[in-house]
Amino acid sequence: MSQAHQLLVMKFGGTNMQDARAISHSASLAARSLREGVKVIVVVSAMAGVTNQLLQLADAAQSGDIARANDDIAAMRTRHFTAAQELGAAPDSETVRELRELHETLRQAVYGVYLLRELTPRSRDLIVAFGERLSAPLMALALEQSGLRAKHMTGGEAGILTDTHFGNARPQSSTYERIKDRLSGFLSAGVTPVIAGFMGETDKGAITTLGRGGTDFSATIVGKALGADEVWAWKDVDGVMSADPRVVKDARNIEVLSYGEVMELAYFGAKVLHPLAVTPLKESGIPLRVKSAADPDFAGTLVRAQADQDPNRPVKAVTAIKNVSLLTVTGAGVLGVPEVIASVFSAIARENITLLMVSQSSSMSNVSMAVPSTDAERALNALRSGLSQELNVEEKSNVAVLAIVGSGMRGQQGVSAKMFSALASEGINIQMISQGSSELNISVAIDGPQVDTATQAVHNAFSLGVQG
Ligand code: ASP
Ligand code: MG
Repeated sequence: MSQAHQLLVMKFGGTNMQDARAISHSASLAARSLREGVKVIVVVSAMAGVTNQLLQLADAAQSGDIARANDDIAAMRTRHFTAAQELGAAPDSETVRELRELHETLRQAVYGVYLLRELTPRSRDLIVAFGERLSAPLMALALEQSGLRAKHMTGGEAGILTDTHFGNARPQSSTYERIKDRLSGFLSAGVTPVIAGFMGETDKGAITTLGRGGTDFSATIVGKALGADEVWAWKDVDGVMSADPRVVKDARNIEVLSYGEVMELAYFGAKVLHPLAVTPLKESGIPLRVKSAADPDFAGTLVRAQADQDPNRPVKAVTAIKNVSLLTVTGAGVLGVPEVIASVFSAIARENITLLMVSQSSSMSNVSMAVPSTDAERALNALRSGLSQELNVEEKSNVAVLAIVGSGMRGQQGVSAKMFSALASEGINIQMISQGSSELNISVAIDGPQVDTATQAVHNAFSLGVQG
């Protein structure tokens, strides 16, 4: 398959980087293509669990518990050093020296947070990006140990320049030229760049992150910049699945998805890709493959511009977002007053909260929104202080959003009817409905505890477990 390729970007996720064994295996997957004469750029995630650990220890430092933060840093340090050693690094090697320096800088950054008892989005990004900065040297080491030449670098060093939206930064348009300038020399010299994913930097050199799961996004940004033939996202799953395989036993791998379909899936809770990961590819038409590291010869899922148009399969997958809250704004004042709607959305926007679903009754007497429950309190406060007194805001927690995704439902009748009757036959009440005008998805809000039953029922109704 790779014979025809000249340049591939390969992304390795957290489980593919979790210890020396996983890293060696990942390196061998890159090496396979390199030995066939393909140029490869590697983009890595932090070791599995490290990102969460960094977020937690930063919180501990902010709340004054520096002992706990230091313990966590020490545990993480052991994990990285053990991996380096198992990958064959000598105690006085460059890799070990670099890991030591990075941990020392991390410790200082965390100590700063402790002294100030302040954790800004900017300092959180600095701290959380250490996960990827620490795993990149390990991957470079593994490649070198198998006789290849590699050079590891931070996202910023690779040329990823972002805005200052810490925690959720976006690439600036000049990024693509910068990446090309910085990486082309390595590639023509036969050196494989190993880039710390998830991170970029601002024009002042402050470290930013691209949002959780952002290494996918780093990889596609780099893929676009260099005009790669394909971007391969190596995972610990077979590809993108028709439903969460932990919930639905007969969930199946999906062979082909369009960029639009995969974005909807990611947005509606399928943890398979960063929701914006395919955006750089959309403009350039570069395909992305989600591949299983355990089964590298399996094709996985191909994501490309063109959807698979099987009329018998208008729906390709069913996904769910758990822990959702519904917020409803009611009151006579909502009636026919567009300014009220505007102030509702601007209050939410100021808090930078993701709206999962929105619906408005046609009388305009109420507006409902689904938000992640973790953001519900912030959203409520923002609404209560941003709206006039006559309006009421109510919260209903313990809700889930279930979505069906597939481009084939565009213009096809009966799809929503089938979804609703599958839910009705399980006695599941629908609290809110929305269909994007793109007709790529239909989503419903239901009671949280019913979500697994609902997922299974909808998966069955559309025969998603049956080979197409
Ligand atoms: N390590 C980051 C995360 O866990 C980025 C990534 O894995 O893609 O969100
Ligand atoms: Mg991760």
